[in-house]
Amino acid sequence: MTRDAKLGTKGMDEDHHLLTPSSQEASLENSERIAVDSRPPVSVEVRPLVESNDANEQVYGRISGLATPIFTSVMTAIGNFGSFDRFASLSRRGSRSCVERNLSSHTTFWTIEHPGHFTCKTCFNKKQPCLRAVGDHQWILLPLPPATREPDTDWQDQACYIRSYEETSQRFPGTWKVEPHSKRDALKREKEAAVTYQGLSQVS
Ligand SMILES: [Zn+2]
Repeated sequence: MTRDAKLGTKGMDEDHHLLTPSSQEASLENSERIAVDSRPPVSVEVRPLVESNDANEQVYGRISGLATPIFTSVMTAIGNFGSFDRFASLSRRGSRSCVERNLSSHTTFWTIEHPGHFTCKTCFNKKQPCLRAVGDHQWILLPLPPATREPDTDWQDQACYIRSYEETSQRFPGTWKVEPHSKRDALKREKEAAVTYQGLSQVS
């Protein structure tokens, strides 16, 4: 990841090591874990991704350090995901997809550079937090791609995760992977090509 990807670390808690699950009933205030009423019920730990580099080293913030609007959005999103039957197993095993796209059985359109480290195209356009389950009920909250962020955005700000402007991903061509044509479109094009070929054969 380039230096541009580095986020401000103002107010960063120095002691942000991985927290271990508590055997007692956890509250967010004490353990940073969020209880989700899924089947079976699970508690998840969400860590905002603050910085990562090409050596695959990551620095995370604490979810309790987020500004209230983005914190609320994350809690709401996770509560909604919990209504899916697949939530608990997805949280346990993790996935390379964005959670929202995984649960809706759709492809995730990650950024071309450093896929999986920044908000996917769908979440960017929908103005929703992009979350990825990395296994063992650990989740990461992904920041907006650097080019789409206001300069000097701090990791605690909502503007680090959700765009504040009206323009969608079309404003940033070349940032996300391009949506491939659907299978139906591909079949249609094949048929059209076959018809054209037959037509040419008859003419010749
Ligand atoms: Zn997403």
